[in-house]
Amino acid sequence: MIPCTMFPDIASDLISRLPNLRGRVIANQPLADFTWFRVGGPAQVLFMPEDEDDLGYFLRELATEVPVTVIGLGSNLIVRDGGVPGVVVRLGRGFNAIEIEDGHRVRAGAAVPDVKVARAAQEAGIAGLAFLRGIPGGIGGALRMNGGAYGRETKDALVEARGVDRQGKVHVFSNADMGYGYRHCSVADEVIFTQALFAGPTGDPAVIAGQMDKITESREATQPIKSRTGGSTFKNPPGHKAWQLIDAAGCRGLIIGDAQVSELHCNFLINRGSATAADIETLGETVRARVRETSGVELEWEIKRIGVGPQ
Ligand SMILES: Cc1cc2nc3c(=O)[nH]c(=O)nc-3n(C[C@H](O)[C@H](O)[C@H](O)COP(=O)(O)OP(=O)(O)OC[C@H]3O[C@@H](n4cnc5c(N)ncnc54)[C@H](O)[C@@H]3O)c2cc1C
Repeated sequence: MIPCTMFPDIASDLISRLPNLRGRVIANQPLADFTWFRVGGPAQVLFMPEDEDDLGYFLRELATEVPVTVIGLGSNLIVRDGGVPGVVVRLGRGFNAIEIEDGHRVRAGAAVPDVKVARAAQEAGIAGLAFLRGIPGGIGGALRMNGGAYGRETKDALVEARGVDRQGKVHVFSNADMGYGYRHCSVADEVIFTQALFAGPTGDPAVIAGQMDKITESREATQPIKSRTGGSTFKNPPGHKAWQLIDAAGCRGLIIGDAQVSELHCNFLINRGSATAADIETLGETVRARVRETSGVELEWEIKRIGVGPQ
């Protein structure tokens, strides 16, 4: 059992310094339930802005030494057991709009689940966004991770993204500005994306619906999507598939604490019920070491790890 971490409460002080704040500020908010793995400690402060202006105001007024971390739907995330010092921003209601615009475009707030964007595009006859059906995160996470599946990535459909920097200034990033690579975005880590504009060619809604159904079937057959997991743990190294290297290193099904390498897809780690974040991270590092020993390849974490170990 990990002892329950409590950070010093800085929330009341923050609120008193920000009289025009409209969003919610909560001290020592447990984060485990905001992640797919269901592990980890609290945020020292959780801030849920009301809208983009509120987010900008908060970041502008927040003392520069307070660290800020943004989370999305937590499907690619390990929150460490000691929690996350400083402020964790989670976008909610005010970032949930989807609009279809002229020119086969979809504008979506950063808190919209990817699957809803895929569905809105399908209904509007906009092709090229069905792949989002296969990614269980939100649009903010897709923008940051260049989320992709079934041969397409966020960068293939993105026109532009909006985001707010640590000084509270709003920026619009063109597709080129995002500096995309494989599961990589070059925009400064401090930027919190608030909205995306996607475009695609005209498509037949029935055909797109068929593509989405195929994606659903394929995911159910090949990924432990009903488990407490974080998706692909490691990036595929150039010229290799991470899962094959992990399998060849004898790690399929490996257990540490209550964390396990999935039997179904061995680039997925699973919380079997009572794993700690440390169990999962140690399991991941053990897999990396064994792959290094057996194949000489250094695996790079795709899953983002935030926060600190138990105090
Ligand atoms: C069962 C399963 C299957 C998966 N399959 C795929 C797949 O096929 N393809 C794929 O690409 N991924 C896959 N993933 C991983 C994950 O769904 C994606 O990486 C997704 O884009 C993460 O989005 P999220 O909202 O959950 O982000 P989170 O996990 O909450 O955060 C991930 C990163 O994005 C950053 N972030 C989140 N929101 C914002 C924002 N508004 N502004 C700036 N940064 C932000 C966070 O700081 C963090 O660094 C899978 C995960 C699971 C659990």
